Amino acid sequence: MFEALPEPKADAILGLMAAFRADTRTDKLDLGVGVYKDSAGKTPVMRAIKNAEKKLLETQDTKSYVAPIGSAAFCNAIIAQVFGSDADTSCIRAAQSVGGSGALRVLADLLKQGRPDADIWLSDPSWPNHVPLMQAAGYALHTYPYYDAQTGSVNIEGMLESLGKAKRGDIVLLHGCCHNPTGADLSMDDWARVVKLLKDNDLFPFIDLAYQGFGDGLEQDAAAVRYMASELPELVVAASCSKNLGLYRERVGAAILMAKTEAEATRALGRLGGVIRSNYSMPPDHGANTTEIVLSDAALNADWKEELETMRLRMVSLRQAFSEALRKRSNSERFDYIAEQKGMFSRLPLNTAQLDKLRDDHGIYIVGDGRINVAGLPESGMEQLADAICTVLA
Ligand code: PMP
Repeated sequence: MFEALPEPKADAILGLMAAFRADTRTDKLDLGVGVYKDSAGKTPVMRAIKNAEKKLLETQDTKSYVAPIGSAAFCNAIIAQVFGSDADTSCIRAAQSVGGSGALRVLADLLKQGRPDADIWLSDPSWPNHVPLMQAAGYALHTYPYYDAQTGSVNIEGMLESLGKAKRGDIVLLHGCCHNPTGADLSMDDWARVVKLLKDNDLFPFIDLAYQGFGDGLEQDAAAVRYMASELPELVVAASCSKNLGLYRERVGAAILMAKTEAEATRALGRLGGVIRSNYSMPPDHGANTTEIVLSDAALNADWKEELETMRLRMVSLRQAFSEALRKRSNSERFDYIAEQKGMFSRLPLNTAQLDKLRDDHGIYIVGDGRINVAGLPESGMEQLADAICTVLA
């Protein structure tokens, strides 16, 4: 059996993490791993989560099963967060999922049942795990150009031209906000053009929403999803609670669908429950239950929003300080895009040799495509970092 298995593909980020841990330099810097970090370099449990966990510990009186689609109260809370608390949600349904990744996979399986012949279109570049997740669900994949490295913004013309070639019924995977890995988001004018194309060519929107609250704010970051929901008859959203509630390892998310009618929505949710049942039967409860407490308790909710906003503002100011330091050191505006971009990531224009040099000479660890985790930038030490980057670029 096992002797027939080929070697697994090495994971670039895990390899980078191991090399970072093994590095004995005290001034080393990890800009690789995609988790939020505070100024001490820690990824803390959020205050409201800690308090909700205490509450849960005191009040939970059974560990019996919930359901394949998880908790209805959790799902309704996430639907309200994504679509707005006063939205008409009559044709929207959700299933609790194993993080955003689990939502991506079960939604991909569901859409495969609805349109077996559809292909999926991914942005180039995209979060690398989109590829195996969608391939595992049996899809043929295509890419559409997305990023203009010269300007640090979206190549909207290239994107529209490429998606114009998709066949009717194909599925387009879109990052709802805070694009990973580029940090470049569509403007609302761009979204209007994309939505018109989806409508005209009968393309299906599959929205990955993993960073709501990390870009312009919790409500603002849902603007694209809400706009699509108002303009298009159907869509799905894979929402993650990993980042905005800091629940990474607890595996919390929601697979959300919007159908044309209430009856279709209910039937689709039933099918989604079947997909989940045949994969892992039911999602874990602890993180979702904790989230449900945070989102339903007024004081915990307010405290969570405050802490999330502090995190967001920290990333915004790190972006500004970093682009300012690079502007000074390089005596150019070529890095100004970093301050304009959204969320946790931006890309630096560095090739493999330059990245190796940054690691070997300066102890700075960055993933192979030049993606940096903005939350890992050093509050004090921005000048040295800018200096190291400009030195290897020279
Ligand atoms: N989508 C994107 C774009 C992501 O960056 C991530 C997390 N790195 C996810 C989905 C999934 O996150 P999780 O499964 O941990 O919730």
